[in-house]
Amino acid sequence: MSRPYAGGCACGAVRYTCEGEPVAMVDCQCRQCQRQTGGGHGSYLTFAGTPWDVQGTPNTWSVAGDNGTTKNAAFCATCGSPLFITFPDVPGVVAIRAGSLDEPERYQPQLVTWTEAAQPWDHVDPAATKFARMPPTA
Ligand SMILES: [Zn+2]
Ligand SMILES: [Zn+2]
Repeated sequence: MSRPYAGGCACGAVRYTCEGEPVAMVDCQCRQCQRQTGGGHGSYLTFAGTPWDVQGTPNTWSVAGDNGTTKNAAFCATCGSPLFITFPDVPGVVAIRAGSLDEPERYQPQLVTWTEAAQPWDHVDPAATKFARMPPTA
């Protein structure tokens, strides 16, 4: 087993640890990710069924995704850092935001979603697999 993926918010009030390896690493260029990050895309490590633990109490914003799936976006109430997204309809899955990791260099984007909403100034890895919206299986 590799070492856990640990991270937290900018002020340190919320910390998390996630064991196992991500099943996908995704840059998402949708408008919602642009607004939540203040940048051109969100970057996520998606874990499925791996043990993970949160210390501290993040605030949560619930929103319906484009396909109707509810997403609970967790962020620190003090410093506002976006942390991770959970899906009440899909227990056990968590999408951790790459920039919140203690070792963000471990993030290696494989997929890019929502390229049709991409901003011309937002450049992503040319080698990553691109989808106009979401991958067909997601
Ligand atoms: Zn914080
Ligand atoms: Zn997105």
